[in-house]
Amino acid sequence: MSSIAPAHSPAASALAAPSTVVHKFGGTSVADAERYRHVADLLLARPESLQVSVVSAMKGVTDALIELAHLAAQGDAGWQEAWHALRARHRGAAVALLGEQVGDTVDWIDARFDQLAEVLAALAVIGELPREVLDRVQGLGEVFSAQLLGTHLRALGEDCAVLDARDVLVVGHGELGVDVDWDASAGRLAAWRLQHPQLRVVATGFVARDRQDRVTTLGRNGSDYSGAIFAALFNADELHIWTDVDGVLSADPRLVPEAVQLHALSYDEACELAYFGAKVVHPQTMSPAIRLGLPIFIRNTFHPGHPGTRISAERSPRGPVKGLTLSADLALLNLEGTGLIGVPGTAERVFAALRQAQVSVVMISQGSSEHSICCVVRAGEAARGRDAVVQAFSHELAAGQVQRVQVSEGVSVLAAVGDGMAGQPGVAARLFESLGRAQVNILAIAQGSSERNISVAVASADATRALRAAHAGFWLSPQTFAVGVIGPGNVGAALLDQLLAARQQLLAKANVDLRLRALASRSRMRLEADGLHEDWRQALQDAGQASDLDQFTEHLLAAHLPHAVVIDCSGSAEVAERYEGWLAAGIHVVTPNKQAGAGPLARYQRIRAAAAASGARFRYEATVGAGLPVITTLRDLVDTGDEVLAIEGIFSGTLAWLFNRFDGSQTFSELVAQARSMGYTEPDPRDDLSGVDVARKLVILAREAGHALSLDQVQVESLVPALLREGSVDDFMARLGASDDALLARLHDARERGAVLRYVARLGPDGASVGLQELPADHAFANLRLTDNVVQFRTRRYCDNPLVVQGPGAGPEVTAAGVFADLLRVAAGEGARL
Ligand code: ADP
Ligand code: ASP
Ligand code: MG
Repeated sequence: MSSIAPAHSPAASALAAPSTVVHKFGGTSVADAERYRHVADLLLARPESLQVSVVSAMKGVTDALIELAHLAAQGDAGWQEAWHALRARHRGAAVALLGEQVGDTVDWIDARFDQLAEVLAALAVIGELPREVLDRVQGLGEVFSAQLLGTHLRALGEDCAVLDARDVLVVGHGELGVDVDWDASAGRLAAWRLQHPQLRVVATGFVARDRQDRVTTLGRNGSDYSGAIFAALFNADELHIWTDVDGVLSADPRLVPEAVQLHALSYDEACELAYFGAKVVHPQTMSPAIRLGLPIFIRNTFHPGHPGTRISAERSPRGPVKGLTLSADLALLNLEGTGLIGVPGTAERVFAALRQAQVSVVMISQGSSEHSICCVVRAGEAARGRDAVVQAFSHELAAGQVQRVQVSEGVSVLAAVGDGMAGQPGVAARLFESLGRAQVNILAIAQGSSERNISVAVASADATRALRAAHAGFWLSPQTFAVGVIGPGNVGAALLDQLLAARQQLLAKANVDLRLRALASRSRMRLEADGLHEDWRQALQDAGQASDLDQFTEHLLAAHLPHAVVIDCSGSAEVAERYEGWLAAGIHVVTPNKQAGAGPLARYQRIRAAAAASGARFRYEATVGAGLPVITTLRDLVDTGDEVLAIEGIFSGTLAWLFNRFDGSQTFSELVAQARSMGYTEPDPRDDLSGVDVARKLVILAREAGHALSLDQVQVESLVPALLREGSVDDFMARLGASDDALLARLHDARERGAVLRYVARLGPDGASVGLQELPADHAFANLRLTDNVVQFRTRRYCDNPLVVQGPGAGPEVTAAGVFADLLRVAAGEGARL
């Protein structure tokens, strides 16, 4: 039944418009008068000769009717108010839509609502809600809706018939859901057509009659199915399902905002997606379409120019996975027992018991050891299912052959769907890898033998994160990282600027989305839902929120993004205290802050242990040598089995500059003042001159090389005179001159021996020290550029000729670049294609 309909010649058919098209408009497309008008315009612009429009109730009306029926049956007097409100909504829509031509329509509506009120009053009396009454009530929204659209089309001068599906559609309710009595329905439709030969028909969705002639429905969201049934009954060439999204997307856009539109799907793929919860199309829609081979288009009423998604018999093998779905509100039912091993028929007994208890099984998984059988069932049916299985296995439970029958609540099933998965190795691996990286624990796994679907059960608390991680893992959306930055000082500010500047490019080129979701200074913090993209300075200034790292963390995790990273540019010990907790929670930590790396050994070890346990990464390249690859180099040496014998170098750009310039032509204190004014020193130059900073870097490197070194084990020569260690910076600067002579004397002594003075850090067999040293004038460290850092590794492999990393090792820009590089390494470690 494609466009090659008998009426067309094959040659013309490719260009000719399809002759019969059935359109289905969901509740989202007919929410109010304005939308009905829009739908009518859309219909009038279409070329087909016979046009059938199946409509849902106005958005929210079915829910309201169901609620109304329950209220009445519970004897809640509130039903009357709700009834009034619903009538008012329909009257209002009619008046707004039809204006002066509203005529009988309000009377028509009132009459239907009066009948409804009688039914509700009766429910209030009997105090219960029989199934068939509920069916009658909940389907009324479609009856009103079809009337509204049909009347509007007529008011526009169109010859249009309104078809109440309760007059023609006959269905039965079988075990596999609703089945259509095609012969009876076709017969009734033919009779109806004799009376209503119009070329435009507006029909009710959702409602039908059962074989006993009672009013019934096709189940929630059943109007899609109605559309397909009418497409078959009218022998349509195409079925168009109009909704509020551009078609079937790769995942539910409410959970995965980056979901992409799918141009085409096979019936099989659409079935799997629908069955596993993609709300956009009802699972049963496919059966009439498949039977006739007619294509279904899922389209956006709000965007009628968009071609939407074409669902047909054609398979397009593109991408192993087309889409992902999530079904919530499930539970895991597990039967476990050593006595099950090798016993035939156990699975059958489990499922027979569940079937008898009318518990439907969403997913089944059995380990090959047969030690346990587990299945996923709906949460509401779980207790019933457990009781049924316990009863079926009561004998084995008593005899100890079955150890337990357990239910775990709060389970969701994530399904990956695509024809292209069949016969393609590695798809499951990719899924599990993505979930593993996002710290999602998998409770059970199932793959259909069609290989069109892999399903995993996960805790509902992890479900959204799992969905997003898998979506990114199959390159359906970017690898998204929730980034939180703490401490927008010099380095932090440079990093934020670099990050925001590079964001778009990373997104476009590498499909990595680094979303700055949280930013905290010492006093204020800014938490953003979607991420801060522009002026972070202003945003932070406008932030009314006081800094609170608990909230900061909570917010970072709350987005359910697959990955979260904290970048600590604060230099604070308090923040470093948080690393362990963050890493344990799976949040990566990237930092130029030396507090953790050089702080108490026990804390450092706890941090490393937390990272090792969770798989989250702790990266701190920029703590030594700013952006220079010092730690990465060292780590590579160690990881490849080399042994570090000694580490030596100049780790402070400030001290390097001071001693490179110190030739006696200026006093040392003058040089310090000059360095300070050029921004080469810390705000308090004593932080540089004391040597502690250098000692910290040495500790970090020593630990990286496998030595359990602590700061107090490093011998530190401070260049700050003992008397000046306390007091204000200004005071210190004013009095530093007092030690000029002593330093000058050391310089002269060194010169006499043909040597120079350098502030050097050393780690070797005889311990760790940092301090001023005399080096031969031809020594490598004596001939560096002004502020260069140098680190020299002497190892078993690099024994005679040490490995040297050298270059500019200070300044906010290069330090921030080092931090950024760490961040990208973390992203790459999570599978980003960088
Ligand atoms: P209608 O009222 O038109 O029948 P529904 O609310 O039943 O609309 O279905 C459309 C909604 O389905 C979309 O707005 C979207 O939020 C949701 N949805 C869930 N999964 C998907 C998916 N994979 N693709 C598209 N939409 C989806
Ligand atoms: N109105 C019905 C429902 O909300 C049917 C449909 O819209 O598909 O379930
Ligand atoms: Mg729907």
